Amino acid sequence: MINTDQPLRTGHVWLVGAGPGAADLITLRGRNALAGAEIVIHDDLANRELLAHCPPGCEFLYVGKRAGCHSATQQEINRLLVLHARAGRRVVRLKGGDPAVFGRLGEETAVLRAAGIPYEIVPGVTAACAAAASAGISLTQRGLASAAVLATGHECAGKTGPALDWEALAQPGTTLCVYMGTRSLGPLASRLIAHGHSSDTPLLVISNASLPTQVIRSGTLETAGELADDAQGTPSLILIGEVAAQGAPSAAANHFTAVTHA
Ligand code: SAH
Repeated sequence: MINTDQPLRTGHVWLVGAGPGAADLITLRGRNALAGAEIVIHDDLANRELLAHCPPGCEFLYVGKRAGCHSATQQEINRLLVLHARAGRRVVRLKGGDPAVFGRLGEETAVLRAAGIPYEIVPGVTAACAAAASAGISLTQRGLASAAVLATGHECAGKTGPALDWEALAQPGTTLCVYMGTRSLGPLASRLIAHGHSSDTPLLVISNASLPTQVIRSGTLETAGELADDAQGTPSLILIGEVAAQGAPSAAANHFTAVTHA
């Protein structure tokens, strides 16, 4: 029976970018969303320290894949979002970096729209920007790079979309920012060299950008495979292009950044 003393409350979902890792790189709007949350559905790359912004009694649902847990499928996450919002709750979906960059945002907003649930997207600092800041470089730079491309190095099994035309993407004057690319970087670099890209093209592999465990490795397409092997298993962003040779780690990162050259 419906309790007529209380107005029916419609749930609402905030899809919040947690930023790249450091807990103080979330936006104020993201922090405010957490402060008003009744339930937070969070995964791997969102720093857990951020959950301290939530009010007492807030429920936390971890849907990532670390610590030996099985990751929830996207379908299950979609189901949870709708379920809790339909129960009238204020739901925060907390994602690493920016939710709109390799963050499955499209799938989640489609499901919310179909269910008639209101939602708001709160942007976050994406890993490419954090990595560039840590390395002390600009992703675009007059005279060096007039474009920056965000690309995934991860080819999912059963993926239906077209394979990326890497040779076309890695043009002079472009900074290629590769997410999820440590496994594919060696073969990718060989392919670019085989298609006429200079083996001297500078490249940076920035692991755990913005965190105390951050490591910056610098090299070229020639040494890419080696750098990628060293970075395996750690969230790493690869920056390929002339701007990658401009770097000096930013002062804020200096005290914990190890720069290795290969
Ligand atoms: N939505 C996220 C990206 C999720 S895909 C964003 O906007 O940043 C996950 C990939 O992001 C990782 O495999 C890695 O390539 C990159 N990544 C995320 N956090 C990172 C960090 N702190 N340092 C370097 N790369 C990171």
